[in-house]
Amino acid sequence: MKGKIVIITGTRPEIIKMAPIIHCFREVENLDLYLVHTGQHTDWNMSRVFIEEFELPEPYAYLNINTETQIKQIANILIGLEPILDEIAPDAVMAVGDTNSVLSAAIAANKIGIPFIHVEAGLRSFDMTMPEEVNRIIADHISSLNFPPTNRAASNLLMEGYPHEDIYVVGNPVIDSLIRMKDKAERSGILEDIEASKKPIITVTVHRRENLSRKERMMGIVDGIISLDLGTVVWPVHPHTLSILEKYGLLDKLKEKDNIIMTEPLGYIDFIGLMMRSSVIVTDSGGIQEESTFLGIPCVVVRNNTERPEALETGLSVLAGTDPKRIKYEVIRMSKIGVRPIVENNPFGDGKASIRIVDITLSYLRKGFSQRCETFQEHGPIYAALIANEMLSGRRISEVESTYGVKVISLFKKDGLIDLVRDMREIRQGEMLLVSGERSKISRLLESGSHKV
Ligand code: UDP
Repeated sequence: MKGKIVIITGTRPEIIKMAPIIHCFREVENLDLYLVHTGQHTDWNMSRVFIEEFELPEPYAYLNINTETQIKQIANILIGLEPILDEIAPDAVMAVGDTNSVLSAAIAANKIGIPFIHVEAGLRSFDMTMPEEVNRIIADHISSLNFPPTNRAASNLLMEGYPHEDIYVVGNPVIDSLIRMKDKAERSGILEDIEASKKPIITVTVHRRENLSRKERMMGIVDGIISLDLGTVVWPVHPHTLSILEKYGLLDKLKEKDNIIMTEPLGYIDFIGLMMRSSVIVTDSGGIQEESTFLGIPCVVVRNNTERPEALETGLSVLAGTDPKRIKYEVIRMSKIGVRPIVENNPFGDGKASIRIVDITLSYLRKGFSQRCETFQEHGPIYAALIANEMLSGRRISEVESTYGVKVISLFKKDGLIDLVRDMREIRQGEMLLVSGERSKISRLLESGSHKV
């Protein structure tokens, strides 16, 4: 009997990240793949271009859900999905990321009793005021299989008690897409098309609700961008952002500056082409933090936190918030760091995430399907939890960190409550530590006699 999988997308990054997975699934015999696009983005053309560029099949269903209120959006997607999932009766539903479409896909599958598979699971900003954080946590916890991109994302799931046997670290499929399109992007004539002659190029994108919904944050970002007097600023503006800039009276300010070019959202090839020709990127986007890390382009993140701390750890990405002076300072500082050749061992993946996701999903659904690929071995830090024994007892956190070359991330007292990690804090026998570091250093610490959890 043929297997059936439904893939649900709602926004451009979801199509970009699902594209290599869709191509891998299409090579599998005896499997029917159904794409459902919710149309969560206001402009269908914004999604259409990605379907064409990635040579994807036409969606089986397009829900045409528009952005009204968040509640109506989620409710309408749920109502739209029910008859489709009932009709297809798939073996699994898969989605990537943290949008309302993903949340609704997870809830719909769960309520109908179909396994939900979450790609890009385990990301955490630890900021529950972000709608994306709430969406991710719910989707992760009601999914049957979770595919975190990195060890850190997997450790977040473990810390929340998600069962380890259903977690596979695979890398992020965004890297697969980037590798697939890089050569075409290199040939893009985007700078000539938009007549951006003056170098350096600074690419800007802003679209997060946490920024758009607060006038003072948008004013800060816009003032920061306007104050940049080096080279040309290129800002492909998301339709939602455009209407917000107009509403806050900020659009004219930007248009007055002749070193700022505002364009429509770009297709993927041109956008990657633009990034590759940029000296610095200023963004609040999640996917762009991953792509800029892979491409080795400094990235100034106009947010106060990120669910992608791996990018910060490479030194190529920095959190600047929305204070204009800080944005300007970080753009100048980061442009001095300069573009690095493509970061080897980048934390977000090695280009094989999609093949792993497909193999593991098939083996999960068909039991006994042999995996062709090993899980992603990130070259960055790994994470471990251990119970302190007499060897660690009485030693200060700073001493343990310097002796073993590891970082203590969290400390749980014997009563189970979490305690602040301070350099001078003495560790007591029986307390649990979550540590991160290079694999060899973590192994040394674990071998020192502490009990593994
Ligand atoms: N992107 C694009 N055209 C643009 C701006 C972004 O193709 O004009 C791509 C970008 O390369 C990345 C994705 O869209 O892969 C990021 O989407 P977005 O910033 O909307 O969402 P997020 O990643 O924050 O969820």
